[in-house]
Amino acid sequence: MIVGILKEIKTEEHRVCMTPAGVEVMCQRGHTLLVERNAGAGSGFPDAAYVEAGAEIVATAKEVYARSEMVMHVKEPLAQEYGLIREGQIVFTYLHLAADEELTKGIINSKCIAIAYETMQRADGSLPLLTPMSEVAGRMAIQQGAKYLEMEHGGHGVLLGGVTGVAPAVVLVIGGGEVGANAAKMACGLGAKVYLLDMNLDRLRYLSDIMPKNCFPLMSSPATVRELVKQADVVVGAVLIPGAKTPKLVTKDMLKTMKKGSVLVDVAIDQGGCFETSKPTTHTDPIYTVDGVVHYCVANMPGAVAKTSTMALTNATLPYALEIATKGWKQAMRDTLEIKRGANAVDGKITFKGVSDAFGLAY
Ligand code: NAD
Repeated sequence: MIVGILKEIKTEEHRVCMTPAGVEVMCQRGHTLLVERNAGAGSGFPDAAYVEAGAEIVATAKEVYARSEMVMHVKEPLAQEYGLIREGQIVFTYLHLAADEELTKGIINSKCIAIAYETMQRADGSLPLLTPMSEVAGRMAIQQGAKYLEMEHGGHGVLLGGVTGVAPAVVLVIGGGEVGANAAKMACGLGAKVYLLDMNLDRLRYLSDIMPKNCFPLMSSPATVRELVKQADVVVGAVLIPGAKTPKLVTKDMLKTMKKGSVLVDVAIDQGGCFETSKPTTHTDPIYTVDGVVHYCVANMPGAVAKTSTMALTNATLPYALEIATKGWKQAMRDTLEIKRGANAVDGKITFKGVSDAFGLAY
């Protein structure tokens, strides 16, 4: 199959959807790879590395769309790309159609085969192409928390791990899923005292088994959150209720009881955030302060560590890209549940219920 690797054009998006190592594997399996010029530059992969891996460098996105049977991106196509997508072409990327009616119409009108990373789901409910970014964001949350605890950034000048004779910082992680477990692991590694809250007893049991001794997995309740925010130096918001807006677990009143110069990192901000005072920020202007508490609420955290994120994402997408390219989308969907569940639109029809529900479209 002819597979096109597009350059990301969204602001602050430095990732690329396939590394040269991935291109090499695809080429070895007999596929033809077209890579848009400078597609990997933001992640540290020059065009020369793609050529060495067997790809052809193509000057424009227009040409990539015109010549490829499948195009891959990281983020959704932007308005200027809708007209370039061809009938029957496979578009394999994060799409988040339910959040964007214009894009949904663009995809429908193009009559392409749209396979969305974010809806690919295994039989056990896990989301193989979302997990790598949750790992990145969870780990990064602690780096950001540590940084903004420093005085020059408005923090109250506390080192996460403490030192000999000085107590470590207290980190509260609300939500013990992928993001939360990764945040807790990082904070524990740095020597902080970590409270990790979740509502799911089975999950808490698992976390109690695998986490180090300086992590205390606890049942989440308003009372527990209210007590622990008073002690915390860093609070990480990592809650997700699938299909619903994130609940506001740290209220304005609770915020007033927190230490001045403590830090909130709301990773769940992409679903509305779990602190009442959260609002989305960007990598260029990541923080603001309310009641003396520093808030970090960047909605696309993995973009800041593009190289790691690119490699984590492509490790997860490559097997699926290979399968679709080798078998064609119809057979790949018959054989692999995740790919079938990834189908959001086929030949001008919406094939994912969440998207049809969002806009009252035929399904
Ligand atoms: P997940 O489903 O793996 O984990 C969510 C956890 O929250 C579950 O274990 C669930 O039991 C728990 N939970 C639900 N209600 C709770 C409550 N009241 N108190 C405590 N825990 C509760 O999800 P995830 O992959 O860890 O993602 C978490 C959030 O981070 C999502 O909103 C996701 O979109 C977001 N995210 C953001 C970025 C970013 O760049 N900002 C990157 C990746 C993920």
